[in-house]
Amino acid sequence: MNRRILIVEDDKKNRILLHDILKYHGYEVIEAVNGEEGIKKAKEYNPFLILMDIQMEGINGIDAVKILKDSPETKDIKVIAVTSFAMKGDMENIMRSGFDDYISKPVDTRQLPDIIKRHLT
Ligand SMILES: [Mg+2]
Repeated sequence: MNRRILIVEDDKKNRILLHDILKYHGYEVIEAVNGEEGIKKAKEYNPFLILMDIQMEGINGIDAVKILKDSPETKDIKVIAVTSFAMKGDMENIMRSGFDDYISKPVDTRQLPDIIKRHLT
């Protein structure tokens, strides 16, 4: 079973936090520091799931998920938005972009593994 997760997050502290939670729960973790690297590593490592930050320089999370879902190689990867946008309008916009799920920042260390489990096949 593919237990590989890609974290795409430009903030180092958040990246370390997500990495530690996922490792603790037995996932194999790959990291990317921006959208460009995230798309490249998604193709290279074929994770079953991606945790995608929204606000990043260059290709942001919304642009990145559109690119991933438009590409035959990566369209089946589950992509979860990790977002600090709290407003309802923003969430609708985020989910319309192609994300499979979302989790708000600050990330709840108990909620995250439950959300990921929903997408394990
Ligand atoms: Mg960010």
